[in-house]
Amino acid sequence: MAWLRILDRISRFVYGEPTYCCLCNAPDFTGTGICSNCTGEIARQMAWVCEVCGIPLRPPLQLCHECRLNMRYFDMQRSAGTYKGRLMSAIRRMKYRGERWLSRPLGWLLSQTARPFSHVGLVVPVPLAVSNRNVRGYNQAKDLAAEVSANICVPLADILEREEARGPQARLNRPDRWRNLKGTMKVAQGVQFDRTAVLVVDDVATTCATLDEAARALKSAGASDVFCVTLARTLKYPRGQEEG
Ligand SMILES: [Zn+2]
Ligand SMILES: [Zn+2]
Repeated sequence: MAWLRILDRISRFVYGEPTYCCLCNAPDFTGTGICSNCTGEIARQMAWVCEVCGIPLRPPLQLCHECRLNMRYFDMQRSAGTYKGRLMSAIRRMKYRGERWLSRPLGWLLSQTARPFSHVGLVVPVPLAVSNRNVRGYNQAKDLAAEVSANICVPLADILEREEARGPQARLNRPDRWRNLKGTMKVAQGVQFDRTAVLVVDDVATTCATLDEAARALKSAGASDVFCVTLARTLKYPRGQEEG
């Protein structure tokens, strides 16, 4: 198909050499590492969500079951997409297969979700669970938070600390996750907020228990509002789903 090759030549001439979309491997001319098809597809998954925790809902529902029953410490949580398909595999590659470079394009994607919160005073990553710290060597939430911080022009502060460890979250069912986490996070010694709004960043939200614990710690140190953004939201909580 000669005309396709010609078209390709012209677009390369006009837009420069493409990079490839980290989700679908198609040539990407946006310069972000995620093509506009994938960005659109992921955004459509979150067209109608719970006003508080950001889980996809059917219209006209405004609050999910959990948020109707329980108060959350965080004021709002939003995810870029759902934890499935290509986004899920990219997150897994970043977390478990050492493809740390993926925090760049995925961080750009997360920044689009974080933009409505760019009035906050600080961006704060969720700290790694103690049990994961030595295995991975880096905290992917911190890498993502650094990208978000740079893109929305809000300073980054790695001030949350985890005490732990009663055991990894991944193998627990829903009520056990909440019990396992309560009181396990604190703000670094000496940090006090003067009614500052904070944006917490993590990769995956399952029950939002980790984010809620982060928000509790931040608010007890004087944060006025705590907003959270994550790359992906799991839709169910079967055993073996990861969080934290
Ligand atoms: Zn793509
Ligand atoms: Zn909710």
